Amino acid sequence: MSRFFSATHKDLVPYVPGEQLNDKKYIKLNTNESPYPPSPAVERAVSEEVSRLRLYSDPDCKTLVHSLAKHYGVDEQSVVVTNGSDEILNFAFFAFCDKDNPVVFPDLTYGFYKVFAQLYNLPYEEIPLREDFTVCVDDYIGIGKNIFIANPNAPTGIALPLSDIERIVASNPDNFVLVDEAYVDFGGESAVGLIKKYPNLMVTQTFSKSRSLAGARLGMGFASPELIADINTIRYSTNPYNINRMTMVAGVAALEENGYYMNNCSEIMKTRDYTTEALRSLGFQVLDSKTNFVLAKSDKIKGEELYTKLRDRGILVRHFTNKRICDYNRITIGTPEQMETLICNVKEILEEK
Ligand code: PMP
Repeated sequence: MSRFFSATHKDLVPYVPGEQLNDKKYIKLNTNESPYPPSPAVERAVSEEVSRLRLYSDPDCKTLVHSLAKHYGVDEQSVVVTNGSDEILNFAFFAFCDKDNPVVFPDLTYGFYKVFAQLYNLPYEEIPLREDFTVCVDDYIGIGKNIFIANPNAPTGIALPLSDIERIVASNPDNFVLVDEAYVDFGGESAVGLIKKYPNLMVTQTFSKSRSLAGARLGMGFASPELIADINTIRYSTNPYNINRMTMVAGVAALEENGYYMNNCSEIMKTRDYTTEALRSLGFQVLDSKTNFVLAKSDKIKGEELYTKLRDRGILVRHFTNKRICDYNRITIGTPEQMETLICNVKEILEEK
């Protein structure tokens, strides 16, 4: 730490992203990326856009907002696009939470929520998931605090039905509720259809997982025009050109080829079911996932040991040190071939023990 670093931030514990190792070629199952490439129209649109990079991008992101509004059946004023959904989460913590508006989220959820709460010095509470890692919905009913909730949740992969999300939102009318749907395209139920009914609800999604654009950094939020206007106030006060030209055209092209991506999602869901069954038949406990990853543990090997042994064999999975889940590994669903390789390696590792 330099002597110039503000005392306000000295205790900040930053978010730790999954490893992006390039010391050798890995089967990369650690950051929930899609194993499938972007569609042909995305490649074409991005390469055509290169010649226009001399010019700033459109700060209103009109074309992309128009495409998203049409695709999701909402008004354009109800859409905002950001540099990954991490950015809209950041904006939402900054815009809607302060010392008089505390925030709650589950104890096991996307690690960035706690980082943002600490970054902005917010009063926050982590509400424990049940023993079986499900969200206890009653804990959130009428809680009277701002709520950030991932549905499906990460790193558990478990989804709540839409009716439970609606109960949470409806019972906290004077508080802001953000539903983070980063993984919704892999079997979850979206709450986007509820934004007209509930002015306190914001739903966020991303192109990073189901639409193969993690590296382009494109996320979006859906909410009442008033909430979106607030996010835009923060966006225009920090980085109005948050979506670069190539990402903008990639997003529009990806929506035009929606069938390609939804087909990939079906493949990933099938591969997820295969992987779950295969791991269970090796004695693993695997949570029921509605995402493109599974959280799994075995009584025969510690989570960290399995992670290290797989890494030595060229397979990267994600291990968390958090006490409640340190016995587990989070495994992204890749192609069927990659998952077969994973299963073979896991089998060999267990046999060696
Ligand atoms: N929410 C959840 C639950 C996530 O797991 C992630 C991925 N790390 C994000 C949001 C952010 O994804 P991105 O910024 O790539 O849209």
